[in-house]
Amino acid sequence: MTIQWFPGHMTRARRQIQDKLKLIDVVIELIDARLPLSSRNPMIDEILLGKPRLIIMNKADLADPEVTKQWQDYFKAEGQVAFPVDAYTGTGVKDIPNQLKILLKEKIDRQISKGINPRAIRALIVGIPNVGKSTLINRLAGRNIAITGDRPGVTKGQQWIRVGGVIELLDTPGILWPKFEDQNVGYRLAVTGAIKEEILNVEDIAFFAVKYLTSYYWESFQERFELPVDMPHNPDETDDVVAIMEAVGRKRGCLMSGGRVDLEKSSKLLLRELRAGKMGRFSMEAPY
Ligand code: GDP
Repeated sequence: MTIQWFPGHMTRARRQIQDKLKLIDVVIELIDARLPLSSRNPMIDEILLGKPRLIIMNKADLADPEVTKQWQDYFKAEGQVAFPVDAYTGTGVKDIPNQLKILLKEKIDRQISKGINPRAIRALIVGIPNVGKSTLINRLAGRNIAITGDRPGVTKGQQWIRVGGVIELLDTPGILWPKFEDQNVGYRLAVTGAIKEEILNVEDIAFFAVKYLTSYYWESFQERFELPVDMPHNPDETDDVVAIMEAVGRKRGCLMSGGRVDLEKSSKLLLRELRAGKMGRFSMEAPY
């Protein structure tokens, strides 16, 4: 599904999330561990109106663990709690209820000191499309739930899902829009598959990926695509980047009549391999 965001769309998405904020104690903000800033909504602080928030860096299985650690420190320095999770296999997921309890400890303690029996912590998952909201809800629930996004004209009763005894999770996540005005953000989102590649030119997306990855992850890249170790790979030299793209195309047999490389086809193949983690783990942005 291609989601295009227009001002009306954004206003509606914001209103839908803000309606749900009234029902909950805490927000679980899902971001992509490979691009923690680019996969965040630019207006998130404003939208969440100061609700306590736990940041989950999902798809951590695909991200560079060292860079993910740096991001964790970065968020900590910003006064926020963020930790890596792989919602697909479930790694890290069972820590979420505890983290929520820690985050809301003061509120819970206050209730206890007033003699109030603390009720379940109510949580809402929010994030941009494809970041893994449905996967995480299913993981937390321990079963498959048909998750439908909010659609105009479709009224669906909110369901609470019990998690780990103390958490109640809204079964409909809040869908946020990414920051697509910045072209580099758009390319990073496209490389990781967060936005459909049809939105941007696929060869440009592959060019962006090759430029970044051969610069930071040359060894893994060179190995995966069996390129000569000494192949020039200066990211600032367009000729080097294009030569690498052509070499990948030749390796993958993406040739047109006359023996020229079919760059469109090989770009698609390359991106598919990267997204599936075939080159190994990588991050598309670092905090420092
Ligand atoms: P949503 O649009 O935010 O609800 O995203 P989905 O839950 O539908 O997930 C989008 C895609 O990402 C699916 O193909 C999932 O299988 C995949 N996915 C979700 N979480 C993870 C994860 O932690 N690791 C990996 N490798 N893939 C994930």
